[in-house]
Amino acid sequence: MIKAVVTGHSRGLGAAIAAELVTRGIPVLGLARGHAEIGEGMEQAVVDFGDAAALAAWLQGHTLSSFLAGADTVLLVNNAGVVSPVGPLAEQDPVAALRAAVINVGAPLALSAAFVQAAPQAERRILHVSSGAGRSAYPGWSVYCATKAALDQHARAVALDGDPRVKCVSLAPGVIDTDMQAEIRATPDAKFPLKQRFVDMKEGGVLETPAACAAKLVDCLLSKRFGHEAVDDLRNSAA
Ligand code: NAP
Repeated sequence: MIKAVVTGHSRGLGAAIAAELVTRGIPVLGLARGHAEIGEGMEQAVVDFGDAAALAAWLQGHTLSSFLAGADTVLLVNNAGVVSPVGPLAEQDPVAALRAAVINVGAPLALSAAFVQAAPQAERRILHVSSGAGRSAYPGWSVYCATKAALDQHARAVALDGDPRVKCVSLAPGVIDTDMQAEIRATPDAKFPLKQRFVDMKEGGVLETPAACAAKLVDCLLSKRFGHEAVDDLRNSAA
């Protein structure tokens, strides 16, 4: 039996991944501040990944191990993430930078270790939702670029640990039509000089739907090849 944990399942890509997994008969535990209307096959817990103390307390509880019990393959999709704060250092809110580092890096790293330890008998697959911004630097996105690069390097190092029953991949999903893209298009030009590129993609109708992206991402997560490349791009991968 397969079971999955998905972070940031309340909206956007995470909601579509959770729905895709449930449709394929895989029970999902969703973790976010908000809820999703997904119905049967879905459990949800309210966790704020920006609150490191609250996350630590949650990780010390039994929700994760109770949910994963009885599964022989378990999946963790570290999808929750934030793009803000956007702008050069002189204008960046330091507290927002700290919070983004906790949400985008601290939480997925802590959750990955807790997840591996919560299901010691199972094959464990971890997918970090990374970004092209972890691989190419963009002005105004220093926090976002740095946090996504950290996920890529985490996956590379986990692969070197060499546990054949623990696979970890950091995957860039492409550009998807979600609240995060709307937030990017609403950024003042001075804070994000490349904004027009994202406005053009939306107007040109080239953004992927969350459902289409989620279907490919779940194919990748369930494929025999999963883990062959620690850092990958969904636009390249033939699952
Ligand atoms: P989104 O629409 O803004 O949704 C973000 C999700 O993360 C929500 O479910 C949100 O849930 C959760 N989240 C945010 N802050 C949280 C917190 N403090 N605690 C717990 N959960 C939190 O973003 P998206 O576009 O779907 O992005 C999903 C992932 O894909 C992100 O990691 C993003 O960096 C990555 N990505 C997106 C694109 C794109 O084009 N959209 C491209 C490359 C990579 P709550 O608000 O309910 O807590």
